[in-house]
Amino acid sequence: MTARDRHQRPLRSLRISVTDRCNLRCGYCMPEEDYVWLPRSDILDLEEVARLARVFAGLGVRRFRLTGGEPLLRRNLVELVRLLRAIEGVEDLALTTNAILLPRFGEDLRAAGLDRITVSLDSLDPERFARLSGRPRLDETLAGIEAARELGFPVKLNTVVLAGQNEDELPALLDFARAQGAELRLIEYMDVGGATRWSSDAVVSRADVLRRLEASHGAIRELGGRGSAPAERFALSDGTVFGVIASTTQPFCGACDRARLTADGRLFLCLYAREGHDLRAPLRAGEGDAQLSQRVATIWGERLDRGAEERRALATRRRPLALAGELRADPHLEMHTRGG
Ligand code: SAM
Ligand code: SF4
Ligand code: SF4
Repeated sequence: MTARDRHQRPLRSLRISVTDRCNLRCGYCMPEEDYVWLPRSDILDLEEVARLARVFAGLGVRRFRLTGGEPLLRRNLVELVRLLRAIEGVEDLALTTNAILLPRFGEDLRAAGLDRITVSLDSLDPERFARLSGRPRLDETLAGIEAARELGFPVKLNTVVLAGQNEDELPALLDFARAQGAELRLIEYMDVGGATRWSSDAVVSRADVLRRLEASHGAIRELGGRGSAPAERFALSDGTVFGVIASTTQPFCGACDRARLTADGRLFLCLYAREGHDLRAPLRAGEGDAQLSQRVATIWGERLDRGAEERRALATRRRPLALAGELRADPHLEMHTRGG
């Protein structure tokens, strides 16, 4: 059975945020030092996450991505991967991470059945990395990327492109990714979650990214065949492939098949959604799989969200979606809570 929303978009992909904690403080995501964390007793245990994942798989979800916060900070993440791998219908099991803890957990994650890894990397310069991520940990991230490669994981590298901060590094990041056998994906800065410092001036658009890379690396060919994926893929003349995620200037809501589950069991239908749907309460009240499945199907069936398109329509009136005070009052608005 495939659940479809009111724009006929199928539910195919689920991003599971396994923790709201993080060991970095990227300025576009967690600009503050301290946060209001989700209460520990609200966090779903591994069996609860796996149970919900099974319900989603039954509704047609084929791709699962573990994210956060920093997912490798979640105790027993390896066990969760094992539980998810065993679910019928799971075709793709991925992890988005800053890689700092990958040398420690990579091997066990591979053995548990994780398919692939996306690593966030915004700079190759140690001082700049420290400035952008709030911590001087470039070496650890690079060691994590190396570990992923040695273990044979397919690796993607995510870079949020920030005007005047790392846009000059795009050619170097592309060369680095190519040398690592990884696919680089350049992400437009979004005005969502903890991006309280966002302004349209800080966004480097897809068009600017392509112009820069064409100047450094020559002709760029568009590959097409994107389907519901957020990234548009391009190739250099030597065959190097990279992606651009133009969430801000050219959103892709029309094909969006993604739902998000927070660590405390709230279902969000859009990265920009103000409200989520609580699945923890019914789960803990003893609702059976069939009832939970019906509940999720009904929620998805009423989905109308096209958050990024609505934001773009604001044009010059566009400001950060949430202010620091609102984020403190409701941490579910945070990107590190709902999962990027
Ligand atoms: N901590 C992990 C990491 O950084 O890879 C996983 C969670 S993080 C929220 C997931 C992704 O969201 C990262 O690739 C990050 O760069 C991206 N992200 C966070 N805030 C963003 C923003 N304001 N604009 C664009 N991308 C953002
Ligand atoms: Fe942490 Fe990832 Fe957010 Fe950076 S982008 S602060 S690594 S959750
Ligand atoms: Fe999907 Fe919302 Fe992102 Fe649009 S803004 S692509 S609807 S999650």
